[in-house]
Amino acid sequence: MDAALVKSLQDQGLDFELDKDLSTMSSLGTGGRAECLATPHHIGQLAALLDLADGHGIPVTVVGSLTNTLVSDDGIRGIVLSTRSIRGIVIKGDLLTAYAGEKLDEVINRAIGHNLSGLEELGGIPGTVGGATFGNAGANGKDISTYFFYSDYITKDGRIRRMPSYSDAFSYRHSPFTDDDIILSTAFRLIPNRDTAESRKRKEHFKQMRMEKGQFKYPSIGSIFRNPPLLSAGRLIDEAGLKGFVHKGAMVSPYHANFIVNAGGATSRDIWELSQIVMTAVERKFNITLEYEIRMLGKFD
Ligand SMILES: Cc1cc2nc3c(=O)[nH]c(=O)nc-3n(C[C@H](O)[C@H](O)[C@H](O)COP(=O)(O)OP(=O)(O)OC[C@H]3O[C@@H](n4cnc5c(N)ncnc54)[C@H](O)[C@@H]3O)c2cc1C
Repeated sequence: MDAALVKSLQDQGLDFELDKDLSTMSSLGTGGRAECLATPHHIGQLAALLDLADGHGIPVTVVGSLTNTLVSDDGIRGIVLSTRSIRGIVIKGDLLTAYAGEKLDEVINRAIGHNLSGLEELGGIPGTVGGATFGNAGANGKDISTYFFYSDYITKDGRIRRMPSYSDAFSYRHSPFTDDDIILSTAFRLIPNRDTAESRKRKEHFKQMRMEKGQFKYPSIGSIFRNPPLLSAGRLIDEAGLKGFVHKGAMVSPYHANFIVNAGGATSRDIWELSQIVMTAVERKFNITLEYEIRMLGKFD
């Protein structure tokens, strides 16, 4: 990385690491190195970082906490900007605003603690509010869009904007944001609820269901494929006989066939190759082409 840029990053007091091994950050435990991983702590630092990167012609790739992203073993050139350290939760009445780096699960706990309900079904989804908003994360019949009110975001050329809620902004695991947008915070309009104990019980129930389904038995990045309309990707993979199938260090989870897990020593290439094997098998058996739900960063084929 350009020495002048490194000096400017230091001068700005930015938190960054050069040649950072991203496998240590990914929930899958795979992936190559980032030329530079920068973790700004507030919006001023983030804006300064974008300005510097632009001035030096360095590409910026945005991530949260890498629980839904397959990072190429070849690594990522330029700056990987993680919003995981931009933290804070503000609650006014029934409006809860969470900064992008807050863990979604913690946001749900805070909401419940303030007698606000609605997000319990998303209990136990790992990752940050930024990542969850970008991917419209969801579970048990609800998703981020259900209580989304607005997000403040900054574009890579430094303009701060507000994304309001509008009718078809979000769809299944899809939000209106593009790779040029960096989500700073998301405001949720929640439901006032006096029965905190009941909400907490519901949330813990949904979280517990994940544990019982073995979602955390192996390192993973969640469901690999989108469910085709009216179908379950996991069931198709299971019926194609692939549950528990091992390819190098990667394995189709024996608990949930739509998870491809790190069974020990996997590379991102192993995960990607197994995902291609799965796609081919499902296509052959059912004539259905699965589409990726996970995000991929860097080169794979
Ligand atoms: C065991 C397990 C269970 C899971 N269960 C579910 C589930 O039930 N439902 C579900 O939807 N997901 C699930 N996931 C996937 C994942 O946890 C969520 O999608 C989560 O919201 C991703 O957040 P993240 O911060 O890790 O995002 P990352 O993986 O870091 O990023 C995901 C995408 O969001 C973008 N992004 C991240 N932060 C920002 C930002 N601030 N601004 C703009 N773009 C940003 C990235 O560019 C990338 O494209 C699961 C994962 C695991 C490991």
